[in-house]
Amino acid sequence: MVHVGIGYDVHALVAGRRLVLGGVEIPHTHGLEGHSDADALLHAITDAVLGAVGEVDIGHLFPNTDERWRNAPSRIFVEEAARRARSRGGRIINIDATLIAERPKIYPHIQAMKEQIAGALGIPVAKVGIKATTNEQMGFVGRQEGIAAMAIAAVDLPEDPA
Ligand code: MG
Repeated sequence: MVHVGIGYDVHALVAGRRLVLGGVEIPHTHGLEGHSDADALLHAITDAVLGAVGEVDIGHLFPNTDERWRNAPSRIFVEEAARRARSRGGRIINIDATLIAERPKIYPHIQAMKEQIAGALGIPVAKVGIKATTNEQMGFVGRQEGIAAMAIAAVDLPEDPA
């Protein structure tokens, strides 16, 4: 039976941090603030997979009070979500996600992001959708104060025994 999950994340843009999105470092004047590498796209995808299989969210699995996750690559969060899906007999069917960022241009990095995400989840690249949009200069994203991401995951799970 197909279960879907949704994920959303946002991080502030600040000077003096690397910008990492979808597991790809992107040259930019600012980077995302956070305890880990603050990869909002991978965090949204992690929560989508966790949600599809009824798990607790990323903040409970990887609390930002835990020194183990300081500056951690968010790929490990995606890998753990996929591991938990598999441990329940689940098969990730596909992921779709949207990045909402005024700058920098995301499109040139999308293929590399898809490859990173597919690798972390253990699924084919063709099963990963990533789109990007601006916020038309409105709100915190439009003012380049932060970057947001949303994601959905479909996971085929065994039916519960009656
Ligand atoms: Mg986050």
